[in-house]
Amino acid sequence: MFRRGMQSWGLVWFRNDLRLRDHEAFVTACKEHDGRVIPIYVFDGRQVGPGAKTAVGGFSKCSTPRAQFLLDAVQDLEDTLRQRYHGMQLIIYQNAYPEEVIPALITRLGSEKRVHITAVYYHQEVCVEEKAVEEALKVSLTNLYGHENATAVACRALRGSSTLYHPDDLPPTASVAALPPVFTTWRKLVERCGRVRAPLAMVEPSQVHPLPFSIPCDRVPSSVRDLIGENCEQERFRQQLTWSLPTFSDMRMDARNAFPFRGGETASQERLQAYTFGSDAIARYKETRNGLVGTEYSTKWSPYLAIGNITPRQIYHTLRQYEEMRPEKKGVSTYWAVFELEWRDFFRFAAMRYGNALFWRSGLRAVIQFELDKLSKHRRWRQDPVMLKTWQCGLTGFPFVDANQRELLATGWMSNRGRQNVASFLAKDLELDWRLGAEWFESLLLDYDPCSNYGNWQYCAGVGLDPRADRHFDVIRQARMYDPDGTFMAQWLPELASCTNWFDIPRIHSQYPHYPRPVVSQLNRGRKQIDAGFADRPKQVASEGSSQDRRRKPLAGARQREPRWMRRTHSGPADTMDTKTSSSEAKQTVLDHFGWSSKQRR
Ligand SMILES: Cc1cc2nc3c(=O)[nH]c(=O)nc-3n(C[C@H](O)[C@H](O)[C@H](O)COP(=O)(O)OP(=O)(O)OC[C@H]3O[C@@H](n4cnc5c(N)ncnc54)[C@H](O)[C@@H]3O)c2cc1C
Repeated sequence: MFRRGMQSWGLVWFRNDLRLRDHEAFVTACKEHDGRVIPIYVFDGRQVGPGAKTAVGGFSKCSTPRAQFLLDAVQDLEDTLRQRYHGMQLIIYQNAYPEEVIPALITRLGSEKRVHITAVYYHQEVCVEEKAVEEALKVSLTNLYGHENATAVACRALRGSSTLYHPDDLPPTASVAALPPVFTTWRKLVERCGRVRAPLAMVEPSQVHPLPFSIPCDRVPSSVRDLIGENCEQERFRQQLTWSLPTFSDMRMDARNAFPFRGGETASQERLQAYTFGSDAIARYKETRNGLVGTEYSTKWSPYLAIGNITPRQIYHTLRQYEEMRPEKKGVSTYWAVFELEWRDFFRFAAMRYGNALFWRSGLRAVIQFELDKLSKHRRWRQDPVMLKTWQCGLTGFPFVDANQRELLATGWMSNRGRQNVASFLAKDLELDWRLGAEWFESLLLDYDPCSNYGNWQYCAGVGLDPRADRHFDVIRQARMYDPDGTFMAQWLPELASCTNWFDIPRIHSQYPHYPRPVVSQLNRGRKQIDAGFADRPKQVASEGSSQDRRRKPLAGARQREPRWMRRTHSGPADTMDTKTSSSEAKQTVLDHFGWSSKQRR
């Protein structure tokens, strides 16, 4: 309890905002407490602990590559705070819950050190699990000193800079409350009248007064194993693969790795500078962004954005600066990078708008009824562990899918083109429950972000914010377009390294008997079944966006539901589940091929 003679301090709770530039919570806390701030970071055991599992598939919530990236970032933050602010200590707790350790720390500091915390500053998150933690913290802080006590610890929840456009700056017709269900409609509105705020400057060292003593707490774990244990997906799968999965430390040095970078604010600034002023790669981004091989085809900003090492506004203003300083390079490419950041915003605002429906099997379509929603209405989702496993391990018999899946398992990275294809394959060809795919990505992706991940998965599965439920990627045609000489596929499928025709699936299977036979004999295209790439595809693939399809207009959101904040719920009103498995013949083929006994099956 606050007593006369005690100084008032602010606690800054770092979350997915592991940086000091453009950090509203840190800046505000310093301003309101005359620089007397205490920073804290909690490795929340429900997200990055050994026991953290996804709800439907039971996968580890965070696997090795992302855990390492996070460790890098926390270490970088700790180093910067210490070096910049006169030895300031970042208080760390591991495998703990913020709503428990923060009040306990406040009580201890008050009673043992006469340091009185009067406010906790943090950036608000938008998804249910993260919001539930905020709510729990508010409750525990209120209970700390009782309701009527005027000096109770205040919760200063700030919006921060997690989006390009601040929600308060959106035009009324594109606001969170009135979010148009189609990206293009929303984008045109914000581009016409939205503005991007300037990033906040870093607090000057002279404006900060850290605690003159240190507080006992945990340290940044020295290894990934200390953080998430030994049983994450890479380790569990390693024994069962018919291809050799390199260890993560070997993979970091491997020339195939498209994301060999470290985590942290320092590394994020280096990457931003390197991709713009350093190599001018940004000037070619529009032509290269669908690439698959190497570090430079796309920006690789997403892992840094996901844990807030950098903000979209910093990126935006750097791009504007780049255009000013290199007018000869100004063109569609810089715009295109901003366009992609707008996609990110759109999914984040959709999560704010629709809450739990982001995780429903029936998706946001259960909330927004699109006019041409005939397909998804009668959609059935299978849960077939064997089929799922072939997809997870990169053993489906479709080289483009397998190469992408192996890249993900080995490195935690997959290109946007790859993601669209493997997601469409899981949902539209294998017809598996899309949430299993989304959870697999959640477990493995370096840049996992709930809004972008579940939003994109819903989109690809035909249950999200896409007026067309029947969009489908023909994985053979896509391979021909984006990996015409098979460079990417050869990289990840050593058993096919001498292959010369990557698109003739039957020939591949007769020439390379050790490569798995296709898990499905037919590729779905909308409601039509197409022979699985055993002949050339027709030139025009209607499901990839014909002009006729673009004319179809959705109905604006008719039924709205209040989000339930406390927990991700995984089924919505229109869910149907078909637990039927694949035909026993196809299943046996898979089991025989990999020598998986029934005991090994999950
Ligand atoms: C099934 C599926 C799941 C995905 N899961 C995630 C995820 O968990 N986290 C994530 O950040 N992105 C996700 N994406 C979006 C996209 O694939 C990645 O943002 C992109 O590949 C990251 O690479 P980059 O930074 O080089 O992107 P660039 O092509 O260089 O784009 C620049 C930035 O724009 C944003 N962006 C680009 N495309 C998208 C998109 N489709 N949706 C939202 N933002 C986008 C990202 O922040 C990215 O860093 C997913 C896409 C699909 C199809």
